Formats: sequence, C-alpha cells, structure tokens
Amino acid sequence: MIDGKKIALVLAESLKKEFSLLYDSCGVKAKMAVFCFNDDSASDIYIKAQSKLAGYLGVEYQLFKLNQEFDLSGLKQKFSDLNSDSDIDGVVVMQPLADSFDFRSLLLDMDPAKDIEGIHPINLGNLISSELTSISPTAAAVMNILNSCVDDYVGSEVVIIGHSHIVGKPLAMLLADKLTTVTLCNIGTSKVNRLEEHVRRADILVVAVGKPELVKGEWIKEGAIVVDVGINKVGSNIVGDVEFEEAKKRASYITPVPAGVGPITTVMLMKNLLLAFKKKHNTRV
Ligand code: NAD
Repeated sequence: MIDGKKIALVLAESLKKEFSLLYDSCGVKAKMAVFCFNDDSASDIYIKAQSKLAGYLGVEYQLFKLNQEFDLSGLKQKFSDLNSDSDIDGVVVMQPLADSFDFRSLLLDMDPAKDIEGIHPINLGNLISSELTSISPTAAAVMNILNSCVDDYVGSEVVIIGHSHIVGKPLAMLLADKLTTVTLCNIGTSKVNRLEEHVRRADILVVAVGKPELVKGEWIKEGAIVVDVGINKVGSNIVGDVEFEEAKKRASYITPVPAGVGPITTVMLMKNLLLAFKKKHNTRV
C-alpha cells in the first residue's frame, strides 16, 4: 500500500529547505493568493491543508472568500490587481465557484506565470508540446507515485478513468510521453458498458471520477498498479472510486483514500509555487 502521507512529508521537508534557501538569497517570502467560494465545505478541507503546509514551508498564504454579493466584475478587478501585484507569486481559484462565475473567462485573465494549478490554456498547451512549465498538481502527484513503483513504462497498458483538465487529460499526456499505451475512459465508456473490459487489461490504472467504488475490485488485473484519485464522502467516511478491499488483493501497488494522492497533491501545488518564485527571481538556488 502506498503511504501518501509519508511521501508527502519527505517531499515537504525538501521543499522547506528550498524555500528557506530562496528566502536567504532573495530576502522575501513566496506569496500565494487563494480564491474560494464562501459556502463550499469541500474547499475548506483543501484550504486547511494548503494553509497548514504554507505555514510549515514559510510561504505567505492570502485567502479571499467570495460571497454571493461578489459579482464577476469585482472578482475580475481583484484578479487584475493580483496579476499586477509583483508580491504575489501564485494564484489558486478553488472550484466550484458559484454558477454565476464564468470560470474560463477568469482563467484567461490570469497571468500564466502565476498559474500554480497548471490550468491556464498556455500551460496546458505547453504540456501537450512536452514543455513542462506548470503541471496540474494532481497529475504531478500521480506521476510521483507511479515513478516510485514503475521500473519500465515502455509499452505498459495505462487506463485512466476520468478526462478532466486537472487530472485525466494532463496525465494522459505525461504518460504517453513515457511511451505507454494510454486509454482515456470517461462517462461515455460506462454508457456503452465497456469500463470493465478496459480496466481488466490495465497494467497501470488511474481513477479520477468522484463515484464511490465505481471500479470493482474483481476487475483489477493481477499485479496492476492502482492509483485512486477519487474523494467521496459516504456517511461520515471518505472513500475512493475503487473498491479498495477487493482491489488490494490483486494489485501490486495501491493508493488508499484518504492518505493516498491527496497529501502529495498539496505538496505539488507548493512545488509549482516554488518554481514560479524561482523564475521570477531568476535564481537557480
Ligand atoms: P470532473 O467532474 O471534472 O470529471 C469527472 C470525470 O469522470 C469526467 O471525465 C467524467 O466523464 C468521468 N465520469 C463520470 N462518471 C463516470 C462513470 N460512471 N464512468 C466513467 N467515467 C465517468 O472531476 P475531477 O475534478 O477530475 O475530480 C474527480 C475526482 O477526483 C473527484 O472525486 C475529486 O474530488 C477527486 N480529486 C482528488 C484530488 C486529490 O488530490 N486526491 C484532486 C482533484 C480531484
């Protein structure tokens, strides 16, 4: 079983050293701004994790909570202020924002150099041309896990379920560049009842859907690597998208939920911040 918390701790420790060296050489702390919608309790969990890690790393964390009265033009103005504020190194917009916010138009206003979530079209475009600038922290977290347990990617059958722009799509690009054969499944695959058949031949399976135990344990190929990105609240428990107990009998490596991909994702967000900060200060420290 892959211990995401343990991996995250090691990565965070090394990031802390890097932030500290940068502070010594630049004399300023890295600073990030985070927007979130007031009433979203899922965002609160991420925010708590981010601000705790920011404190540990010596990063300044500025939170803007939006409410219903905050209209898009007000938000856009705030964005434009932050884009031109040379003290801000990274910007995060927690989703979902309220329905009235046009997320894409907001995104296009963001300075790609401050996009530490790797979702600006320029950063996604760079990913397609294999030029790695800011990569989605979730995709980077999955790659980090896979790199620790895959000896040779070449020719492996990779099946990714979920084709969002923050997980499935960037991961498909990253894994294709490792010379694997990638199948990107989505709701359409389930609609024609072909999910099971794809899962059954996966050497590497990544699931990012948001449906509790969508993938049945008995579908997992013997020896497969299983990375479960899904986070679902069921009663008072958090579960993933894979039927864990059954899947772990077949998998060679498997991530639990919680304490699998999640903690590493937060560290990867901060790694993007570090890279943005380094670039701004033009330093190789
Ligand atoms: P999304 O809603 O943007 O995308 C969901 C994807 O799942 C789509 O591609 C959709 O077609 C597909 N899908 C839906 N139902 C399906 C079905 N029955 N069969 C096959 N495919 C189906 O979701 P997202 O933002 O990518 O998040 C996915 C999950 O990952 C959520 O549970 C989210 O909370 C979690 N997540 C976890 C982390 C982390 O760090 N652990 C980070 C981001 C997202």
